Amino acid sequence: AALPLGVRVRVLEPDPAAPARLCAEHLHAPYTDPAGLVALAECDAVTLEFENVPVEALAALEGRVPVRPGGGVLARSKHRALEKEALREAGAATAPFVRLDTEADLPGALAQVGGQGLLKTSELGYDGKGQARVSTEAELSAAWTELGQVPCVLEGLVPFERELSLAVARSPQGEVAFGPLVENVHRRGILRTSVFPAQGPAGAEVRARELARAVAEHWNLEGLLTLEFFQLPDGELVVNEVAPRVHNSGHLTQDGGGLSQFEAQVRAVLDLPLTSWQPLHPCAMVNVVGVAGDQGGPLTPDWAAIDALEGTRVHLYHKAWRAGRKLGHVNLVTPDEAALRARLARLEALIP
Ligand code: ATP
Ligand code: MG
Ligand code: MG
Repeated sequence: AALPLGVRVRVLEPDPAAPARLCAEHLHAPYTDPAGLVALAECDAVTLEFENVPVEALAALEGRVPVRPGGGVLARSKHRALEKEALREAGAATAPFVRLDTEADLPGALAQVGGQGLLKTSELGYDGKGQARVSTEAELSAAWTELGQVPCVLEGLVPFERELSLAVARSPQGEVAFGPLVENVHRRGILRTSVFPAQGPAGAEVRARELARAVAEHWNLEGLLTLEFFQLPDGELVVNEVAPRVHNSGHLTQDGGGLSQFEAQVRAVLDLPLTSWQPLHPCAMVNVVGVAGDQGGPLTPDWAAIDALEGTRVHLYHKAWRAGRKLGHVNLVTPDEAALRARLARLEALIP
């Protein structure tokens, strides 16, 4: 997304096999490598597209080069407990939760969140990894041990009607722009589909934008951030979590005819003019996740049938196959919503 804008990209990424190797000047060194940080400090701006970067790496760059988002936003969004506390300070509702930093915090925690919940590690979890569903004190205690006795949050179960997401970008002058409100369906903790436009009660987009703006302003965001929401039966929105970056649910913007979230990120980070990046057409995305068949080997999508379905665009990440790993996604764009729903059902049937 940067290249067509005349922008070159330098990536600091310790994994030599990371997809970044294919499209950027790839420095493979630890995130805190002094020479790597010098190379980043030479850039016009620094951003991130992964939250498991040490806050110290951003702190070492701040003051030498604009870092968007900065260490303050990263510190909150990479730690579930700090994130929830900071969301509440910004006026957003979250799931009921209890912070479990040591074993002494366990007794009575389950009752505080309503008798059943999800135990989640405070750091490093993604795609539902580092989580366990618990409904008794004994299960909570076993799950705490299973997850490694690291700091966790225990969340109450939110009886949501649907899941939504929305990205927000904020310029250094405080101007704000929004991505589309997208509807998301998860399977076993992993995002399966995203759809634009989202279904549901009127007013959801206005409310989601209000909350996104409040978080962006309270956290002094520069750059782009994505919020995941639970929509309750009465229409109210609860923030599940945030990501300090472009998001899987925003990938449909690549093919919806408007600005892509990736270009929005580049524009926000370089302080270029930015308008909302709403798709121009109804569109959807289906994730391609590694699924093992009965013999343990990969079940592959029916690529020929996917290509034959009108309006599909395949995006693969050049990653090695592993069960449960996100390997790519297929976008679908159609002239109207009825066609979108019908073709999405056909597309989903082609992807294990
Ligand atoms: P990712 O970062 O990949 O989105 P994650 O591992 O951080 O995933 P969460 O977003 O916390 O996981 O949870 C994954 C999914 O599990 C949610 O999108 C939702 O479907 C379900 N879930 C999580 N927390 C709750 C909750 N408190 N109540 C009900 N469902 C939940
Ligand atoms: Mg997450
Ligand atoms: Mg999530």
